[in-house]
Amino acid sequence: MSNNKPEQVGRVFERFFQETDEACCVLEAQVEASGQLGFVLLEANASFRKHAWCGETPPGHGREPALPLDEAWLELLREVALSGCDLHACLEGPEPEQWFEVRAFRAGDAARPVVGLRLRDISEQRRLVDRLQNLRRITTVGVLFWGAEFGLVDANEGFIQMSGFSREEAIGKTWQELTPEEFHPASWNAVRQVLTRGEATPYEKQYLRKDGSRWWGLFAPRKIGDQVMEFVLDVTQRRHAEAALREQDRRKDEFLATLAHELRNPLAPIKNGLHVLRLSTQADSPAQRTLEIIDRQLNHLIRLVDDLLDVARITAGKVRVDKRVVPLRDILTRSLEATQAAIDAKQHRLTVELPADDVHVAADVDRLTQVFSNLLSNAAKYTGAGGAIHLQVLAGEHQLDVTVQDSGIGIPAEHQAGVFELFSQVRDHQPHFEGGLGIGLALVQSLVRMHGGTVEVHSEGAGRGSTFRVRLPRADAPAQGRPADVAQPREGAARRILVADDNQDAADTLASLLRVEGHEVVTASDGLEAVERARTFRPEVAFLDLGMPVMDGLEAARRIRAAEELAHIRLVALTGWGQASDRQRTREAGFDLHVVKPLTPTAMQEALAIAAHA
Ligand code: ADP
Repeated sequence: MSNNKPEQVGRVFERFFQETDEACCVLEAQVEASGQLGFVLLEANASFRKHAWCGETPPGHGREPALPLDEAWLELLREVALSGCDLHACLEGPEPEQWFEVRAFRAGDAARPVVGLRLRDISEQRRLVDRLQNLRRITTVGVLFWGAEFGLVDANEGFIQMSGFSREEAIGKTWQELTPEEFHPASWNAVRQVLTRGEATPYEKQYLRKDGSRWWGLFAPRKIGDQVMEFVLDVTQRRHAEAALREQDRRKDEFLATLAHELRNPLAPIKNGLHVLRLSTQADSPAQRTLEIIDRQLNHLIRLVDDLLDVARITAGKVRVDKRVVPLRDILTRSLEATQAAIDAKQHRLTVELPADDVHVAADVDRLTQVFSNLLSNAAKYTGAGGAIHLQVLAGEHQLDVTVQDSGIGIPAEHQAGVFELFSQVRDHQPHFEGGLGIGLALVQSLVRMHGGTVEVHSEGAGRGSTFRVRLPRADAPAQGRPADVAQPREGAARRILVADDNQDAADTLASLLRVEGHEVVTASDGLEAVERARTFRPEVAFLDLGMPVMDGLEAARRIRAAEELAHIRLVALTGWGQASDRQRTREAGFDLHVVKPLTPTAMQEALAIAAHA
């Protein structure tokens, strides 16, 4: 049994020899006629034969093999045959990008040497290594290799250039050392993704250069074996360009806000002056008709400026809605009142369909009125004369759907999604219809959202009319009857009134307006003068502008409140600012009422009525 072992082992080795992927052969060295040492094939395995390197005759016939190697390597083989030293080399084959790993050793003595030869095609591995080396050389994309503990084990030239570290300095660093503190959460998130699903969604963060400065990179890590390979693009320039754009955008917003404010200031005295003129002009005279035209145009201008101001406030996040539960009907009535003139002017047929019982919403009355006024005036504007406008409320258990439908020019499908964006206008409409600033619907959307609702548009296309649907959460009716409506102007007796404003025109027109109404009025142009006038004139009501030189309106109010003999004076703050915080400041200073400019004649009467009865 044991005698058989060498034979069995021989058979096993024979099988190994035949079955291995490496091309193996046994060569016999022979001195040729030329005196040179040549080689003939004694034996070759299957892989060797597969390559057809055996020449035309089968192995064992002593033919020279047709090896894919040139003369130079034959020299190496001769050296093996003569010296008995082993050969292990990578040699190029005759085909492009073809490489072999060659091993050779001598068996037998130097007199009749036999050489064992193994060839392994390593072209694919070489190509892979070449590719990796090219990856290391590229500079446009950084490539990082992270070890198991997230220490850097290798980095390419691109990353070296981006980071300013040499390769030696970079290797061994952890991502924590290279990432500024505030971006650690983003990196941890990526690490988690890589560990759980093998790769992370590409993400942007800052990295630290060697000199401590920062650069922006777009990172895309992926797990490969127990390492992580990460590609990174330097996006610093793009980030800076974006920041510059944002800054420009912010300045534009700021400019629009200032512009709207500055435009609004002169409008109040003009409006008031016009009112005075109309009251003192003969009815139905050419002058009266001209004043009416000016008034209409002025109202249009005031609406545009107000919209602009609203947009500026909304973009700055300064709009707050002050909600209370009111019947939706009240809001729609106010919206219809505001737009009736525009609807009538174009002889549109208006139909209104409301639920029989009152339904309620939690609403900032002014703001929600603005929403439906905008939709109704758009319906009137973008519908040819004699069209139809339908306002409908459908009440669900938890929501209210208000639709404003018109038979107008419609909106092509491709424009429908964009109409709610700021400054968007459907260009095809503009030549035929008086346009605005492209603000109205953006305001509508923001305000509806602030009420927890949604707005959407539907149109069958150009010429087929449009339907805007506002969906609002339905509120429960208030427990005790209807809440008080917005105060109506009340007729009042002649009063003694102080008007303080450093804008002479504003003060004068308001004073004229009040005098026309029969009140006795004095004016002051700064806070100090206002306090003086309050002492001497003893007004019942004082309108104080807040932004005045020498002493501002807040301080003037505090001083008036501090004087016992002036305690009865009703104080009305006039200001361009209407935030809750602004209102709180005026309340704290002792004002009875906070009025946002411009003070229109109606608002003036309301203010007077409320202040006088406060
Ligand atoms: P604008 O001040 O231009 O009216 P809006 O934001 O109110 O701005 O509307 C944006 C655009 O949407 C308008 O310019 C108009 O092209 C289109 N649009 C709005 N309402 C209607 C409507 N009822 N019918 C047709 N097009 C409309």
